[in-house]
Amino acid sequence: MRKGKIKINEDRCKGCLLCIEQCKVKEIIQGEKVNKYGHLVVEFKNSGKCNACTLCAIVCPDAAIEVYEVSEEKVNGK
Ligand code: SF4
Ligand code: SF4
Repeated sequence: MRKGKIKINEDRCKGCLLCIEQCKVKEIIQGEKVNKYGHLVVEFKNSGKCNACTLCAIVCPDAAIEVYEVSEEKVNGK
């Protein structure tokens, strides 16, 4: 299955939580960090379940999320 990861631009995030509602694999959680504008920002859990579906980025009204596909790297053998 396709693996992904996301990058959240914390200064753009307004803490609306729409991305959390969209992520079917629950890879985004409500964080504890407050950005410079006083918004509670979300966090990427990075537990390996992200499949780079991009729904979180599509739904974000503030374009705060970038999605990357991660290729599975071979770690042993030839
Ligand atoms: S790309 Fe998809 S699976 Fe990954 S965090 Fe966003 S909504 Fe969740
Ligand atoms: S949808 Fe965008 S602005 Fe809203 S909480 Fe998620 S990252 Fe932040």
